[in-house]
Amino acid sequence: MSPLTLELAYLYPKLLNIYGDKGNVLTLSFRCKSRGINLNVTTIGPGENLQGKDFDIFFIGGGQDQQQVLVSNDLQIKKKELVNLIENEVVFLAVCGGYQLLGKYYKAGEGAEIPGIEALDLYTVAGNKRMIGNVLCEEIERKEGGHPSLIVGFENHSGKTFLGNSIKPFAKVIRGGGNNGEDGFEGARYKNVFGTYLHGSLLPKNPHLADKLIRLALERKGLNMPEVALDDGFEETAHRKVKTLHY
Ligand code: GLN
Repeated sequence: MSPLTLELAYLYPKLLNIYGDKGNVLTLSFRCKSRGINLNVTTIGPGENLQGKDFDIFFIGGGQDQQQVLVSNDLQIKKKELVNLIENEVVFLAVCGGYQLLGKYYKAGEGAEIPGIEALDLYTVAGNKRMIGNVLCEEIERKEGGHPSLIVGFENHSGKTFLGNSIKPFAKVIRGGGNNGEDGFEGARYKNVFGTYLHGSLLPKNPHLADKLIRLALERKGLNMPEVALDDGFEETAHRKVKTLHY
């Protein structure tokens, strides 16, 4: 029997990789490998196309405004393809600066609007106060059995993101700023896209979320997640530790 294989596209790893965002890709690789799943990672930078590959998971990290301008320019070329994939329920994790660019635009200070790809019904405007610190939130979508899933992470952004009517927040903030420091929500969820402000990295400290992304990517291909119990001792310790830190 051929082994299970997933293809991951890591967008702009050189331009958007702050606060260890790459750790999300490493976590997905580790957790796939531990279950006998091949996760092939392809990095895609400016000027590089999606190479006609049938990707199952996309990841894009965060970065500063200057890098976001470069990425925004290149994303306009890939816009149609990415929007189609998102509509076709590809799994997509987008963090901070990358999350902002999946929306309509990011307006940085007095500067011009940095266009996004308009895959998500949201926009972002720079506020005059940075939201920096550890975040504790509760995923809106309930786990099977009805328990809310707690998510921890680290945020550092001045952008304030506002969601439109056709998109749901990813989580409810318990501690931290979240999307805009006003409405009590964090991130966005649309089809299989998870947009979030949480770095830190996110997935190493939230292994249940990493597994959810892998499961969704497999299910999209009609495959089941292999039942392999992993030892999450370190991951759970890190998760617990952040839960007790103060914003
Ligand atoms: N430049 C954006 C902001 O401050 C994104 C920052 C980030 O990706 N950490 O809102």
